[in-house]
Amino acid sequence: MTQRKAMCACGDISITFSGEPQRVFRCHCDYCQKRTGSVFQVSAWFPMEQVVAKAGEPRVFSEHNMLTEYMFCARCGSTVYWVSEYVQGIVCAAVGCFVDAHFPKPTLDIQNQYRHGWVEAIEGVPEYEGFWTPDE
Ligand SMILES: [Zn+2]
Ligand SMILES: [Zn+2]
Repeated sequence: MTQRKAMCACGDISITFSGEPQRVFRCHCDYCQKRTGSVFQVSAWFPMEQVVAKAGEPRVFSEHNMLTEYMFCARCGSTVYWVSEYVQGIVCAAVGCFVDAHFPKPTLDIQNQYRHGWVEAIEGVPEYEGFWTPDE
């Protein structure tokens, strides 16, 4: 089965998944902009059972809300993966940390009220203002 490895910029922190992500999100919200320093973030959702390996000892950041814990590298600063009480049983990973130009494209585009004017919509991908929840 395909394995996909997300790694921080310096290589100290990594997480490896088997198989395909369940969903891929692009989020434009103000928090994701600040957290990443970019104008949107892209994250892949994997069921926890698909985690096959972890390496390194990430620092944990959860100031945004106490329900989400972002695992980042204390040395280089990359946020590699996170878990949230909002989506139990799921591990989210930063798609950029896979450095894979063939990674599946986003299936959901959320918080579009924050989208920068020059950022194009993704053809065929549903757009939401605000959050998307699994019940929709
Ligand atoms: Zn690092
Ligand atoms: Zn966001």
